[in-house]
Amino acid sequence: MTGYRADGRATGLLGEDTAGEAPAERRERIVRAAVRQGLLDPERAVLAGFVDLDGVAASVAALRAAFPADVPVLHTFAAKANCLVPVLRALRELGMGCEVASPGELAQARAAGFPAGRIVFDSPARTRADLEQALALGVAVNVDNFQELARVDAVLAARPSASRIGVRVNPQVGGGAIAALSTATATSKFGIALEDDGNRDRLLRAYRDRPWLTRVHAHVGSQGCPLDLIAEGVAKAVEFAGQVNAALGRRQVTGIDIGGGLPVDFTGDTVRPGFAAYAARLRDRAPDLFGGEYEVVTEFGRALLAKNGFTAAYVEYTKTAGGRRVAITHAGAQVAVRTVFLPGTWPLRIAAYGPTGTAKHGEPVPQDVAGPCCFAGDLVAHAHPLPLLEQGDIVALLDTGAYYFSTPFHYNSFPDPAVHGFRVDPAGAVRFSLLRPAQTLEQVVAQSGD
Ligand SMILES: *Cc1c(COP(=O)(O)O)cnc(C)c1O
Repeated sequence: MTGYRADGRATGLLGEDTAGEAPAERRERIVRAAVRQGLLDPERAVLAGFVDLDGVAASVAALRAAFPADVPVLHTFAAKANCLVPVLRALRELGMGCEVASPGELAQARAAGFPAGRIVFDSPARTRADLEQALALGVAVNVDNFQELARVDAVLAARPSASRIGVRVNPQVGGGAIAALSTATATSKFGIALEDDGNRDRLLRAYRDRPWLTRVHAHVGSQGCPLDLIAEGVAKAVEFAGQVNAALGRRQVTGIDIGGGLPVDFTGDTVRPGFAAYAARLRDRAPDLFGGEYEVVTEFGRALLAKNGFTAAYVEYTKTAGGRRVAITHAGAQVAVRTVFLPGTWPLRIAAYGPTGTAKHGEPVPQDVAGPCCFAGDLVAHAHPLPLLEQGDIVALLDTGAYYFSTPFHYNSFPDPAVHGFRVDPAGAVRFSLLRPAQTLEQVVAQSGD
């Protein structure tokens, strides 16, 4: 089997072709195969997403290896990071559970075949019907606030449930570099603010009165938060779980859900900080988490999928404007919404290929790489040094396996692109599998109310 080791180098046991293949060579192999097989085509398939299924398996293996083998752990994948049902199915087959945050994601997880006992449902805005469904199915529920707790009381009074139920606490350890993704600030909208006046006592009473509250949940992140901050947030959740059990004089809290939020390095192919470094930090900061008293639940998204996907698009035209070279491609805000609207926060690496998918090695020239949308800011890179792009070339937006092509933006009614999974066998042969067909224009029209 071929895959990436934690250091980002490919490993291969048999074939001389792919053994030791660097990530850039592997991507070139994929782009060339995609052109040969017509998955990228200058007329019929100008944009597509690609997911490295060998890489996903290697990332899941790295996640598993990072946690102590003698501690019960349920690793779930945060569906919002890549909600394509075949991707979720592949993760289920790799032994993962699934974290969902909306009725749509719950439906996707069920379609992918996750058993209820391996689904965790987190959300700040569930209706009573959402809760009734989750509790009837037996999926785990992390309650977001005191009002929701009262709602769960009412649902359980009408019908018992097999669900594991916890409370999401906000450890209020502060934010990271990206305000929109910092979930543990003093005023975050998520969870119950642990340090606000009276909340700890109110929570202790809530656990005392409800023996079915057996979990504590915290998700501190995501991208932009340093490991120490995330570990400190988890440590506060673990400390709170210990406080509940000590106050009640019984082992009521039996599970701690530490959420996801491990950041990803978008600047190169090396995987860092990586799951092992994070788990080591947790062992340091929150040793009780791994003491055997608790089942541990994780909910990683970006760290599992981001580096296992890229987006490829043709260069339709090139021009010079005000002395700046501009390449107009088919990948813009519709597949890279965060990068386009917050380019300083979400810069992406871009790779350049010729029309047959061969990597371009020319002298780097600063270029704007633009998308097809009708607004001036639709750029995925500003003055980015790349070999001079020409009409008919292909660009790849790297590390876009999470939160990019899987969550498109429907501005200008561009159809959602096809997404292809791939594996490379030891002899170097690339096998693609369709993860999502490209949307047809008929589907675009239907989605528009027709
Ligand atoms: C988004 C989210 C995750 C996953 O976050 P990543 O940064 O992708 O790891 C996990 N848990 C909850 C509650 C989330 O909202």
